[in-house]
Amino acid sequence: MQGRTDRPHRVVIVGAGFGGLFATKALRRAPVEITLINSTAYHLFQPLLYQVATGILSEGEIAPPIREVLRRQHNVDVRLGTVTGIDVDARTVTAHAPGLDYTVEYDSLIVAAGASQSYFGNEQFADFAPGMKSIDDALELRARIFGATFRGSTSTSIPARPGSSSSTRWTWCFRHSATTCPPGRCNGCTSSVSRSSWRRR
Ligand SMILES: Cc1cc2nc3c(=O)[nH]c(=O)nc-3n(C[C@H](O)[C@H](O)[C@H](O)COP(=O)(O)OP(=O)(O)OC[C@H]3O[C@@H](n4cnc5c(N)ncnc54)[C@H](O)[C@@H]3O)c2cc1C
Repeated sequence: MQGRTDRPHRVVIVGAGFGGLFATKALRRAPVEITLINSTAYHLFQPLLYQVATGILSEGEIAPPIREVLRRQHNVDVRLGTVTGIDVDARTVTAHAPGLDYTVEYDSLIVAAGASQSYFGNEQFADFAPGMKSIDDALELRARIFGATFRGSTSTSIPARPGSSSSTRWTWCFRHSATTCPPGRCNGCTSSVSRSSWRRR
C-alpha cells in the first residue's frame, strides 16, 4: 500500500482504547507507518474500573503503558497528546502535549477517541452518581466508599444490630463491600446469602 509518493502509507490513529489498540494491532503486518496518539501514556482497561473503585485492584494494574503493550510492534510510533484539531483537506492532525504542540500528516485516519458519559439533561445527578470512565473517576468513587466506611465505623449515631452488643454494632458485607447499609442487612444481598456475607468488624 503506497501513499501519494513512494513513502509508506501513513496511518494516524487517535485513541488507544480498545478500538485504537485493536486497529493498531490489526495493522502490525501491513506495510504502513502508524502514529498512535493518545491523551494518556497508558491504555485503560475500563471494565476493571469497578475493581479500582472498590479497592480490589490498584490503578496501575488496569492501565499498562501503551508502549509496553505495543513493544513488539515495529511499525507504530506511540505519541502522547490530546488531539485538538483535524484538517481533512490538508490531511493533518494537530495535538497538544505538555509543553508541546505538534502536527502529524496522514494518508489514512482512524478516530477511536471513545465516548463520554451522559446524564441526558439531568446534570444534577452527577453529584450522586459520578462518572466511571477514567482512573480519576474510580479513585474519586473509592474515596467516597472508603470515606463512608470510615465514617460509619467511627460513628456512634447509628444503632446497633438487633440482638448484638455495642461492640458488634458494625458489620461489613464482604460480598458487596459496604457498611453503609442498615446494620444486619445489606441492601445488595438476598436474605439467604446475607447471613454468611456479614462479618463482625
Ligand atoms: C466501567 C465500565 C465497565 C465496562 N465493562 C464492559 C464489559 O464488561 N464488557 C464490555 O464489552 N465493555 C465494557 N465496557 C465498555 C468498554 O470499555 C468500551 O466500550 C470501550 O472501552 C470503548 O473503546 P473505545 O476504544 O471506543 O474508547 P475508549 O476505551 O474510551 O478509548 C478512547 C481513547 O481515546 C483517548 N482519547 C480521547 N480523546 C482523545 C483526544 N482528543 N486525543 C487523544 N486521545 C484521546 C482516550 O484517552 C482513550 O484512551 C465498560 C465501560 C466502562 C466505563
